[in-house]
Amino acid sequence: MQFEHSDKVKNLLARLEAFMDEHIYPVEQAYYDFVHDQQNLWAEWPGMEPLKEKARAAGLWNLFLPHEYGAWSPGLTNLEYAPLAEVMGRVPWSSQVFNCSAPDTGNMEVLAKFGSPEQQELWLKPLLAGEIRSAYVMTEPQVASSDATNLELSIIPDGDEYVINGRKWWISNAMHPRCEIMIVMGKTFFEGPRHSQHSQILVPRDTPGVTVVRHLKVFGSSNSPGGEVELRFDNVRVPKQNMILGEGRGFEIAQGRLGPGRIHHCMRSIGQAQRALEWMARRADSRVAFGKKLADQSSVRQDVARSFCEVEMARLLTLKAADAMDRLGNKAARDLIAAIKVVAPSMAQQVADRAIQVHGGMGVSEDGPMAYFFTLNRYVRLTDGPEEVHMSQLGKIKIAEYVASNAR
Ligand SMILES: Cc1cc2nc3c(=O)[nH]c(=O)nc-3n(C[C@H](O)[C@H](O)[C@H](O)COP(=O)(O)OP(=O)(O)OC[C@H]3O[C@@H](n4cnc5c(N)ncnc54)[C@H](O)[C@@H]3O)c2cc1C
Repeated sequence: MQFEHSDKVKNLLARLEAFMDEHIYPVEQAYYDFVHDQQNLWAEWPGMEPLKEKARAAGLWNLFLPHEYGAWSPGLTNLEYAPLAEVMGRVPWSSQVFNCSAPDTGNMEVLAKFGSPEQQELWLKPLLAGEIRSAYVMTEPQVASSDATNLELSIIPDGDEYVINGRKWWISNAMHPRCEIMIVMGKTFFEGPRHSQHSQILVPRDTPGVTVVRHLKVFGSSNSPGGEVELRFDNVRVPKQNMILGEGRGFEIAQGRLGPGRIHHCMRSIGQAQRALEWMARRADSRVAFGKKLADQSSVRQDVARSFCEVEMARLLTLKAADAMDRLGNKAARDLIAAIKVVAPSMAQQVADRAIQVHGGMGVSEDGPMAYFFTLNRYVRLTDGPEEVHMSQLGKIKIAEYVASNAR
């Protein structure tokens, strides 16, 4: 067992951390000031494109893409990417600077793995170049979408086209001014095995019949410029070539997409927890109450100690899951992926909560990152499947495994 990063990763980490110090932390608040200003709703922060240029020039681009993809990918494994994603997670918006942000990363992996050469030319290339952005369109208001076999939006063949009808909601990024393509999951077959009825199809964002019904705020925030929205699809027509992989193969694609996507979220959550912990320690050292530093109060030390233990446990579990994905494949690693999806966001929410408490009133303000980390990780506990669903699957796998084993 090797707990040291390779020289390649150490080198990338040093360059990424230097980039964060020089270009990201100094403008962190300016970014939030811009996107929280209602006058700038759905507008891109003007600093984003220049920063992307710098990141690309620095070779800090598409780090997430785990396997070599032409000149676009540095070809890192999941294990190698994990500490880099953690550093980006410290400032959640920064992953876009490095073209490593959700949902684009998952969508790029879908197109790289399952897209036709024509789909790759049209949509993957501009996504890898960071020229456009994308949305992943799965959840529906009228059905429990954590069970994706429930999805009802219809994708029906008609001549050279597919016709799409239905409703979706909680679609991130759909309002982003650069969002040009959406991967939409829906039903093509209405009988037969439940996991062979759904398909995934590419729908350009500006296709006639795609309407934004409303914008959904998250804990009162617009999440501008990407936003979360409810969408209607009324007789939306796209050419047959837009079908990904083939009719009825939606679940195959979903499995391929969600493994890496889930672990990337966890890596970033760990970065947020680590940063909240560092803020908590510094505040405890600088604040005096009732004649002594907060750092000298036993309960505060326990909060720091417990948070350290939890961050370390989650980080090691994430690295173990990443390593299993690299060596055994996403399917064989599904127990560890489920485990980390259950552990990391709730851990980060808990650590952010302790950091808020140690900061007193300042903790819930915008003068520190803790309040945002708290709300962000609260909803990451729902996205890409609520934690109960992962626990249910994990429990099933482990029961079967231990029942089958002869260990005494
Ligand atoms: C900020 C945000 C961004 C999002 N972005 C996107 C996006 O870009 N694209 C997209 O398609 N979706 C997105 N979502 C939607 C998200 O993926 C879904 O909300 C999630 O998958 C749950 O589906 P649901 O809301 O239909 O909940 P439901 O399926 O109705 O589940 C509700 C609750 O039931 C419980 N439950 C469900 N199954 C079980 C079980 N087996 N055992 C025990 N309890 C269970 C859980 O507590 C669960 O939270 C986003 C959501 C949020 C909040």
